[in-house]
Amino acid sequence: MFFAENFVSMPAEEQWGYIIAHTPETIRHGLCEIVRRNGRTCVINFYEALLNLPEAALFLERDTVERRLRGSLQNWLERLFPEQETDMAGLRALQERVGSVHAQLEISPGLVSYAFYFIKMSLNLFIIDYFESQDDRLRAVIYCQSMVDFAMTYMNSAYNTDFKKKVEQDQSFKMFSLGQDLNFEKETQKTTFFDWSTQALFCLCEQRLVDLQTIAESQFGLWMAHKGQNLFKGTEDFALLQTMIAGIDRRIVAIRASDGVPSGFAAELRNNIRDVTFLTNRLFQAMEALQSGLDPLTKTLTRRFLDVVIQNEIAFSLSHDKEFSIILLDIDFFKKINDSAGHLAGDEALRHVAEIIMGSVRSNDFVFRYGGEEFLIVLTESSSAAAAGYAERIRSRIEASAIPCSTGATLALTISGGISTFRGGIKISALIEQADRALYAAKEAGRNRIEIYSRDRIDMRSRDG
Ligand code: GH3
Ligand code: MG
Ligand code: MG
Repeated sequence: MFFAENFVSMPAEEQWGYIIAHTPETIRHGLCEIVRRNGRTCVINFYEALLNLPEAALFLERDTVERRLRGSLQNWLERLFPEQETDMAGLRALQERVGSVHAQLEISPGLVSYAFYFIKMSLNLFIIDYFESQDDRLRAVIYCQSMVDFAMTYMNSAYNTDFKKKVEQDQSFKMFSLGQDLNFEKETQKTTFFDWSTQALFCLCEQRLVDLQTIAESQFGLWMAHKGQNLFKGTEDFALLQTMIAGIDRRIVAIRASDGVPSGFAAELRNNIRDVTFLTNRLFQAMEALQSGLDPLTKTLTRRFLDVVIQNEIAFSLSHDKEFSIILLDIDFFKKINDSAGHLAGDEALRHVAEIIMGSVRSNDFVFRYGGEEFLIVLTESSSAAAAGYAERIRSRIEASAIPCSTGATLALTISGGISTFRGGIKISALIEQADRALYAAKEAGRNRIEIYSRDRIDMRSRDG
């Protein structure tokens, strides 16, 4: 037995230290030597394996790997197998930092553990060469395996926390704000700010400095601090506005306590008022654009909503440990329909297809017009298999329906679709890219069919279901 019997039941923080403390000096020294001599080869194998994966190739560039990442991974290996005693807290903190970097780059733990296999494998081969006795080799292999695996545990937990945090922060626009009467709020707040500014300018002219009100005390300030906060939180403009208001208020508080207005203050205030008005308008405009996020032709959502919706679903999936799926649909040979029946008939057909799509999914799903004749559906809490069911239903309904034309004739249409499923640790663009690849495969395979993205194989759904 290499480890004590109670090893498994020890607290996790102690296990890693225990392994190091109970590995003979000669073994640890050997690993340190191996890393010094052959670390580079291990690192090269790691990144070759990673770059080979299509998912990783989406966000890792060979150039970055060669310039920056190889060197940092080699340093990491040397810290993991040091010459001297290890500072455990420092070692754990290092892994957490690496995990955070992965979360920033959105390299998922799944990809990382796959690539780490190649580090362990290369190290093991060097261990066999380096040590003479079977016993030492065995101990060294166990030590090496344990060190890398414990490091990965800390990396992954940091990745998960950071990834979740990142998604929550990115959710800049609050969905619930979309239910409020924006136009009314906008007009009201324009007026309250105007009231505050005239009041302030009068006080200055009449030298009634004690009566100067800060913006925070005004109705406008109160509205921004409470309601505006919900509506605009997370946007750059709102942060800027808050800083600006705080700056103006600091000046006002100082002037209130003094017995004279510094020269140029009135001009400064006028400029500030102009800036606040401008920013407030821009905040409301951005919100209005978001609110009018319906495509006029098809009444599906425009892409404006897409990131917010997917980010919400990602946050939900991570916190509830659930999957959701995306279906990307594209009308087959739509150009021909336009060419033969005319653009207006084409528009009719698009509306008709959108209606079938919206009638085929649940009210908790989201249908977007993704491109000219492309639709993207976010199916909440749905596995690939469930998504395939919905997609197939849409495909067969469209195939079976005759679309009436203004000429009296009817049009026959088909669509193709691709499905991808979120199971954690992938960025929005990559998730859509996967659905797009599946869609492309469906087109290649003859159209009028649905395909599911999978890393090495694309599932085929026959047109007969
Ligand atoms: P494929 O099966 O490969 O998808 O063939 P396709 O002809 O559908 O492919 P392509 O993407 O080349 O053509 C899409 C066409 O959709 C081009 C454009 O004329 C038409 N289209 C895009 N938006 C609209 C629209 O709003 N109204 C109409 N009538 N046509 C549109
Ligand atoms: Mg298209
Ligand atoms: Mg098309």
